[in-house]
Amino acid sequence: MSENPIAGIHHVTAIASDPQRNVDFYTEILGLRLVKRTVNFDDPGAYHLYFGDETGSPGSILTFFAWPMAGRGQAGVGQVEVTSFSVPEGSLNYWEQRLLSASIPVERSGKRFDEEILTFADPDGLRLELVAHSKADTAARPWKDVSVPVEQAIRGFYSVTLCEQGYEATARVLETMGFRKTGERGNRFRFDVGDGGAGAHVDVLCASEAAYGRAAVGTVHHVAWRVADDNSQLSWRKVLVGKHLNVTPVIDRCYFHSIYFREPGGVLFELATDPPGFTADEPVDKLGESLKLPPWLESSRKRIERALPPIQLHKAVKEARAL
Ligand code: ZN
Repeated sequence: MSENPIAGIHHVTAIASDPQRNVDFYTEILGLRLVKRTVNFDDPGAYHLYFGDETGSPGSILTFFAWPMAGRGQAGVGQVEVTSFSVPEGSLNYWEQRLLSASIPVERSGKRFDEEILTFADPDGLRLELVAHSKADTAARPWKDVSVPVEQAIRGFYSVTLCEQGYEATARVLETMGFRKTGERGNRFRFDVGDGGAGAHVDVLCASEAAYGRAAVGTVHHVAWRVADDNSQLSWRKVLVGKHLNVTPVIDRCYFHSIYFREPGGVLFELATDPPGFTADEPVDKLGESLKLPPWLESSRKRIERALPPIQLHKAVKEARAL
């Protein structure tokens, strides 16, 4: 094991279709902040949108590749099946009403381990949960410029649930990464890393009868785990390569540095550094307001901007004011 512990979820990246609908849902309904408006560095004709808390702290960031022409995917084996956010204890009634009043069907799934859960999907069918618990991180800084009261606001991630055909091979990789099994209910196996708690859980759902998932709109593309810095990342790379995993070289994502590999069950994992973060190319008070490009794409800015559909922030609020 490395001396540089993995500190839980860094970000989750999923696939959306219409970027404006995506922005409206995550900012206006869920109350997250658009912390970065950029393009997919591997496909600069498409947006890469990052949502999170006020500064886009690691552990709060849900990102989307917006591919309007892509078809609907299918959740299933080899994928992150559910992405779960942390909310303060007692806030689920508020969220249930909020989502229902926006015509979003919800399900109160009862208790799992010791948590209360509200399940729903985003407009593209991405499966989400809000998990209410007494230890919802009070240090998280929800974005205040939204209509969700701070008392009920999302406090970063709670967990991800991996859907797997079997679980032993995945469990071994998680254990290599410093996770330990902390719970078991039926076919659900919970692993925690570091001090555990919100953002440090991963549930492995062993669904041997389920069909394989198809990555496209409404599914998760990958989950990234936090490493403190570049040295820690390199030392983890050595450990993982030593376990015969095919790990990419370090890739510069501007706001963090990344390595990627597929765990044996098929889920794409990334290890991402905490620094430099989203203030690398714009100040905190301007995050997400304009299109940012990595230095190597700046020379193509005009062409890229022409190809992207416009996105408006606070669209619903502005429209309501105009009435
Ligand atoms: Zn990523």
